[in-house]
Amino acid sequence: MYFNDQTVLFLDGKFTKATHANTDLYSQTLHYGYGAFEGIRAYKTESGTVVFKAKEHYERLLKSCELVKIPIPYSVEELMEFTHQLLEKNNLQDAYIRPLVYCGQNMSLSAPSSVSVMIAAWEWGAYLGDNLLRLKISSYCRPHPKSLHIEAKVCGHYVNSILATREAKDNGFDEALLLDCEGFLAEGPGANLFFEKDGVLFTPQLGHILPGITRATVLELAEELNLKVQQGQFSLDDLLQVDSAFYCGTAAEVVGIKSVNEYQFPLSWEKSLGKKLQEAYSKAVRQPLNVLKAEF
Ligand code: PMP
Repeated sequence: MYFNDQTVLFLDGKFTKATHANTDLYSQTLHYGYGAFEGIRAYKTESGTVVFKAKEHYERLLKSCELVKIPIPYSVEELMEFTHQLLEKNNLQDAYIRPLVYCGQNMSLSAPSSVSVMIAAWEWGAYLGDNLLRLKISSYCRPHPKSLHIEAKVCGHYVNSILATREAKDNGFDEALLLDCEGFLAEGPGANLFFEKDGVLFTPQLGHILPGITRATVLELAEELNLKVQQGQFSLDDLLQVDSAFYCGTAAEVVGIKSVNEYQFPLSWEKSLGKKLQEAYSKAVRQPLNVLKAEF
């Protein structure tokens, strides 16, 4: 699904066949989740393939590494260049790109002995599908921001996301919605939450969530569309009285939510602000302007 005999990936300064690349069973990342990653999308546009918000994603990767003290030997510009070469070598136009910074052999809980950088890419459809989602409020809360750096995209944090997703699916739902450790609405296992009430958009404030790059894009688009947006702390009771809601993330893009637990949002998706923003997002990612592009 992710690679075939021809696929090439970037690994520590070289392009290597995916079938020839391997990793160490004594890696600190494998045992302790001590690594950082990104999820980026490239889109085919009229003037070539555009890696959407490449700079923002690689800045976040460097920030994640800095927060968890994993030294990374490349700059944002170098990582962007490797990514373009990777897409070109694999002849990919619409693609999902997965950079991973991982640590070498070290079975102790100390500084990494060595650090590797891998970038892979593959074709990937909408991560949460195209249908409206039925969500379950998770019994797991997002990790406490004083236990780890919640704003960093760190491998180990995703056990929380996997547990929440599995719980939702095992109970017949499409996806989970997690509260923060204070009981306020937080985010999905891999996406940020927005909702609409009386024509105003709301989204949980930063502090207990991953600062999504799609979330930031949606906020920009909402401003362009002159929509009123409020960021704050909201409760589940608030959500159970709103008109409509959606998730957004690089992999999921903008996807409507049908219901939370047993509550079905009354406004039809077609008439929602979410739908407007979904269309605006779909247009924005296919625009070659203001982003570094790779022309094939
Ligand atoms: N929250 C979590 C927990 C995520 O894993 C993601 C996906 N990276 C997001 C939100 C959305 O972030 P982005 O829009 O930057 O992909």
